[in-house]
Amino acid sequence: MSREAELRDGLERVHARIAAAAGAAGRDADDITLVVVTKFFPAEEVRLLHGLGVRDVGENRHQEAQAKAAELRDLEPPLRWHYIGGLQSNKAAAVASYADVVHSVDRSKLVTGLSRGAVERGRPLAVLVQVDLDPDGAPGSGRAGAAPDDVPVLADAVVAADGLDLRGVMAVAPLGVDPAPAFERLSEVASGVREEHPSATWVSAGMSGDLEAAIASGATHVRVGSAVLGARPSRG
Ligand SMILES: *Cc1c(COP(=O)(O)O)cnc(C)c1O
Repeated sequence: MSREAELRDGLERVHARIAAAAGAAGRDADDITLVVVTKFFPAEEVRLLHGLGVRDVGENRHQEAQAKAAELRDLEPPLRWHYIGGLQSNKAAAVASYADVVHSVDRSKLVTGLSRGAVERGRPLAVLVQVDLDPDGAPGSGRAGAAPDDVPVLADAVVAADGLDLRGVMAVAPLGVDPAPAFERLSEVASGVREEHPSATWVSAGMSGDLEAAIASGATHVRVGSAVLGARPSRG
């Protein structure tokens, strides 16, 4: 089977899962955006995905994302680049030069750099506040996200910054446990943010292994890599 045919099959399977999960939750599948996570895969595969109708792609490393965005600048209609990875504050302005959405804002230090980058490029940057849903995880264990109690202040900081549009919240469910309670918690945090900022309607949650649970709890954006593309190659 050609790579293009494999990718078409992967997309069909994931769209069918999204449709089934939306149906089970009494939701409209059109309200759920599939962000295809293309990290580790070369730009050529992203180009194939674009040919198959994909418009939203996710990346988690600045260098790699920047290079792919540059290489695929010719695509029409353009891709929307979702930055979903850990972010260093000294790279934040650079990420804002190509990203359309940054899902991983988890501390106020990032807001300054993202704001500067967004103002420089002259186009607003959509921002999600990343929430840490693992109350038992040890601090410093490599987890990302703001504690739920810190989210309102961070959301206010995003709203106050020039060039940034607060669109909602994002999270990764804790590994190795039932993701449903974590996604319900995220849904509560999202409602709290929406009370203060009604346009912050996005909930980015769910990956290849848990997109159904995320959709049941109200995810508007699922970030799916391996279920579309297969196992990730090692980074060269
Ligand atoms: C890699 C990644 C994904 C996609 O993971 P899969 O299990 O391959 O679907 C989603 N979200 C984040 C933050 C990631 O880093």
